[in-house]
Amino acid sequence: MSSPYISETVLSVHHWNDTLFSFKTTRDPGLRFKTGQFVMIGLTVNGKPLMRAYSIVSAPYEDHLEFYSIKVQNGPLTSRLQHLQVGDTLLVSRKPTGSLIMDNLKPGKRLYLLSTGTGLAPFMSVIRDPEFYAAFDKIILTHGVRIVSELGYHATITQELPNNEFFGEEVRQQLIYYPTVTRESFAHQGRLTDLIDNGQLFRDIDLPTLDPREDRVMICGSPSMLKDLVQILEQRGFSEGTSNAPGDYVIERAFVEK
Ligand SMILES: Cc1cc2nc3c(=O)[nH]c(=O)nc-3n(C[C@H](O)[C@H](O)[C@H](O)COP(=O)(O)OP(=O)(O)OC[C@H]3O[C@@H](n4cnc5c(N)ncnc54)[C@H](O)[C@@H]3O)c2cc1C
Repeated sequence: MSSPYISETVLSVHHWNDTLFSFKTTRDPGLRFKTGQFVMIGLTVNGKPLMRAYSIVSAPYEDHLEFYSIKVQNGPLTSRLQHLQVGDTLLVSRKPTGSLIMDNLKPGKRLYLLSTGTGLAPFMSVIRDPEFYAAFDKIILTHGVRIVSELGYHATITQELPNNEFFGEEVRQQLIYYPTVTRESFAHQGRLTDLIDNGQLFRDIDLPTLDPREDRVMICGSPSMLKDLVQILEQRGFSEGTSNAPGDYVIERAFVEK
């Protein structure tokens, strides 16, 4: 019987600060996924696979895989994963899945990508996918973190993507990036839920407040952030989309509280 996991090889590792890192691996050509999906990844520990869910940061057309990870102190997987070196083996499951996909949303004018922490990961794939720029007039990526050094991919978003050879023009015209920090001073400060609730986000980016007739929303963050944002959206008449019935918003937990 073939293994449920593919063995990929680590190509590069980048440490953003002492709690966050990202890494790239080879990609089996047979591994297909949709922009926004997650997959199980892990390491062999004591002869057994130790696997956790991870959103895929890379875009489906890229020939490598990329992941963005927390380092949880004493976390069974990440206490080991943070020591990954180039050439190491990473196990990857063969069945990507997840709800943060375009098919689960009705057509709309603007797409809001609301993330906190490592919840940014699936949206790094979305903002590199030209199909999303074709489907929406504007894509608004928000990233809420506690301290400035947690703004992973900041330079990728502000400097690299606008100069991308293939879709840089779309990024410059259509992508609005709104990082916000809660515990240090920064251009935008505060919790995303408050910035949405009190309208500050919309004043800052000069767009109308959320409206289910025009806006679509993808959310990826902590369980409490999801709960609060879903409440705000439902109050405003947004309904959740599924694969059977596309809707106005979709959610994915960035992690599970244990
Ligand atoms: C659908 C889904 C997608 C995910 N995608 C990612 C991803 O792209 N990147 C990523 O780093 N993690 C992601 N996670 C979390 C991941 O599966 C693991 O929980 C994480 O790698 C820690 O593993 P661990 O074995 O070290 O600790 P665990 O035993 O899994 O977690 C221990 C505790 O650490 C905290 N924690 C775990 N993950 C995070 C996190 N990402 N941010 C803040 N606190 C956390 C929680 O309180 C958790 O109870 C995802 C989880 C789900 C359900």
